[in-house]
Formats: sequence, C-alpha cells, structure tokens
Amino acid sequence: MSRRLILVLLCFCFSAAATEQENQYEELYDQKLSDIEETTTEIGQQQVAVDSNLTESNTEDDSVEAEAGSVSEPQAELALPEPPKPIIPIVAGKTDQASASQTTEEQPQEETWGPLSLLNTELSPNSSATLDWYSGHLPGGFELATPVVVIHGKEPGPRVCITAAVHGDEVNGVEIARRVVKQLEPEQLKGTVISVPVVNIDGLFRKDRYMSDRRDLNRAFPGSPNSSTASRVAYSLFNSIIRHCDSLVDLHSGSMFRENLTQLRADLTIPEVSELANQFGAIPVLQSIAPSGSLRGAATAAGIPTVVMEVGGPYTVDEKQVDTGVKAVQSYLSSVNMLPRSFFWSSPQPVFYASQWLRARDGGILLNRVELGARVNKGQLLGTISNPITDDVEEVFSPFNAVVIGRAQNQVVSAGFAIFNLGERRTIEDLEQEGEQIKKQVAAQNAEQLGMAEGQTEQPAIDSEQQTEQTPAATEAAGPETTTEPSQNSANQEANVEEPAATSEAAKAEPATAVQPATDPAPVLEPIPEERMPQPEDEDG
Ligand SMILES: [Zn+2]
Repeated sequence: MSRRLILVLLCFCFSAAATEQENQYEELYDQKLSDIEETTTEIGQQQVAVDSNLTESNTEDDSVEAEAGSVSEPQAELALPEPPKPIIPIVAGKTDQASASQTTEEQPQEETWGPLSLLNTELSPNSSATLDWYSGHLPGGFELATPVVVIHGKEPGPRVCITAAVHGDEVNGVEIARRVVKQLEPEQLKGTVISVPVVNIDGLFRKDRYMSDRRDLNRAFPGSPNSSTASRVAYSLFNSIIRHCDSLVDLHSGSMFRENLTQLRADLTIPEVSELANQFGAIPVLQSIAPSGSLRGAATAAGIPTVVMEVGGPYTVDEKQVDTGVKAVQSYLSSVNMLPRSFFWSSPQPVFYASQWLRARDGGILLNRVELGARVNKGQLLGTISNPITDDVEEVFSPFNAVVIGRAQNQVVSAGFAIFNLGERRTIEDLEQEGEQIKKQVAAQNAEQLGMAEGQTEQPAIDSEQQTEQTPAATEAAGPETTTEPSQNSANQEANVEEPAATSEAAKAEPATAVQPATDPAPVLEPIPEERMPQPEDEDG
C-alpha cells in the first residue's frame, strides 16, 4: 500500500512540476520577445528537473535569443511542423486543408481571408510567389519582366507594399527589400507583403537614376497610359500593383553622390501618414511634403498612406544603414501585428526632425569634416570648399545645433549645391504645424510664379487622374496640395474622390490645401530662409 501511495505522490509531483514549467516557459517566451537579456539564465536554472521535451524546447529557445534580428528562427520553435507551402498559382476558393481540420476558432478567419489576385495570378493564403510585371517600356519593343515578390500570409492582415530602386542607381533599398522578404514565412505572416525590389530595372542595369527617356520616374506618378515613357511605366506600376496596397514603403537613397542617415520622409500633416511614420521604431522622421509626381504623393492621394525611407547614398550598399532600414521595416510589420513577435529597439520611439539644407556658396572641391549622424553645435565647422584655381577656401559652419542627417560625399560641387542636410529635433506637433506653414509658402510661391493675384492662391482640388493631364508647370504648382487629402479606404480611388465631403474627418483635412489660407491663425514659427528651403530635386533621393 505504502509503495503505491508513494508512487501516486511521485506521479502527482512530476505532473505538477511539468505543468508549472510549461506555464513558465510560455510566460518566459513572451517576455523574452521584448526583453531578451534578463530571462536567459533564469530559464536555464528552472528547467533542470523537467522532462526531456521541455528541456529540449528551452535549449532551442536560447538560440532564439542569440539571433534576435531574425524573423524566421523563432517560428521554427513554435511547434509548427509544416514546411512553407509551394506556389499555388490558381485557386478557386478556400483551400487551406491543414487549418480546416484544426480548431474551430480559426475557421472564421479563413472564411474572410481568400486568395490574392495580382498580375493575372491568384495566390492562395499561406503561399508565396515571384510574379512578373511587364511595364512595357524597353526600347525596340522588347519586353523584360520585372519581378514582384509576394508573400501571402496564412492569416488575415494588412497588405503592405515595398518598392525599391524607383531610381535605378539606389541599391540600398534593393538589399533592404531582399533581406526583409527573405525572413518572411507565409505560415507565420498575418496579411500580405508585396515587394518590388527593383522598380526601374532598366535604370539599375545602367546604374542610372533616370529612365531611358531621361525622365525621373519618381516625378511621373500616378502616370498616364498615353504620355511619356516614364509616365506610362508609372501608370502601369501604379495601377497593376500600388493600388492593391494598404500602405507603402518606398525605399530610396541620396542622389548626386549625397548620402542620408537612414530616415523616413513623411508628410506629418496627413494624419494617416503621421500614424504610419510612428510605427518604424527608433528612426529619424523628417517632415517632408511629397514632391509633385512622386510615388509617395500619388499613392497617398489615392488613399494609400506612404512614407519614403532614405538609406545611404547611390551606387553602393552601405551595410550599416541597410541594417537600420531592415530593422525599421520589420518593426513596422511587427507594429501592425503581421509578425508573431516584436523587434527590438532600445528606445522604440521615432525621433522627429525639422531639416534644412546648407548649400555651397561657391563651387569647388568639398571636403567633409563631420560624419553622417554626427551631432554638431552652432558654429561648428562642417566642411570646406576649395577653389582648385584660386585656392580660396570657403568654410561651412553649422547655423544651429543639429544632427547631420544627410551630406554630400567629398566631390566637386557647384554654387548652390545642397551639401549638408541638418536636422533639428522637434515634437511631432511642431512639425505638423511647420508642414502646414511650408505648404502655404509653397502655394504662395507657385501662385506668384503662375502670375496669380494674391486672392487667387487657392488651388482647385486635383485628384491624381486629373493631375496627369496638367502641363508640367501646372502639375509642379499643384503637386504638394494634391497630397493633403487622403482618404483611408485603401486602394479605391474612385470611391475616395467622391467621398471626402461626406465625413467630417475629411472635411477637417481639406482646408490646409484648397480653400483660403486666411482663416487659420498664422503659426508663429520662424520662416525658413529661402536658401535652406527644401527643393523638389533634393527630396526623395
Ligand atoms: Zn530616389
């Protein structure tokens, strides 16, 4: 009797210990996703007398901690035995046989999450594919497929698009897109990621920012089917792919041998864009009005909140800046619950900056004296510009305490060339206010250039379709205003155009653009000196 009793007691003790350890394991796993360091040794100590399964799981789990930057690793430990599914191009309904036989809780989600139709292909949930987009722009009638990588997750979620190399010489974004997509598993993904890692494939071959027709693709959106080559390519991309997105991250680099600290450019005066920009972790965010014809401006105007991520300089891959960019995109996917775990910044909040350009007074050979990302004080020497003939040296000093968020690489520069982009920390509220002020300044300048009287500065609200019909000058003038009126119903521009007046939210968003500037009280901010105003050619890479 007594032996049986001891046996029963022993079984009970083991069972209780195992249950407790399981609970501890779950708690610890969740905790370590956000706070890696502290739990490691604790787990190791607590797992000693547990059964072998638990010990094994814990050992694997420690390896997760060692690879905090990886998306795919921890998911292997979550007892999800199925390998990634192969491409299933045509699906006529819901087909996920694995989940159908599982818990009943998952079924309602499956019913609302169906195949994705894109580029004449249907992708079932829980699949990935590389699709072909034909922009039809190569000379001589040749066709070249541009790859579009799609990860269509197993469970419902947002549809996030990533574009890179809209400018063919900007390759940091190509590498960021590659690294982000590589780590995604459809099995673990909630929602869909659509990546176009090389939009301007022709430009990439030629290491050229522009299209083969010498135009800037990122000034041609949303494009037109009957206009210039760049405009046709823009139209094709916009309608074939971009309209399918709920949000867009457009990856760029500095242009003209300039390099940028990895940063977001976002028009924070647009609430939906402001919300988007807040979700990329501890990355610098700059208030920036989208240049006319930019993908960012056109997509946002079509109801798809968009940010540009600037990363390093052209032609080369800057691995440090790329790492930050990858981390930021992953943080975004994690913030909107597309990934099963969080990513880690020591301080996850973005840092907001107002930025001003310093331009070369005279031409010559620029030599930097400060690194990208350096904090500089007012009056600190930033660089010198030496005249190669007269030997005159221009010293460039910082006009205020700042962070060097962009700089020209050492090179020969002309007078007026943008050489340093200096960021001054602000609150997001300050930047929103300042953004509105800049919009008014730009609108006033445009009106002046167009010869309009002061009272006529209001621009008619131009939707993106109408914008394609403008003359270049008129489009330039109207551009920034077109981006201030997003509607958040994704990917349905027709509905958006008609809807704004129906909601008070939209009515609130509108006055800054089209209607009179006179009713708003003038913000009391120091005007930005003309020479330091952002210029379209210096924006978005
Ligand atoms: Zn660019």
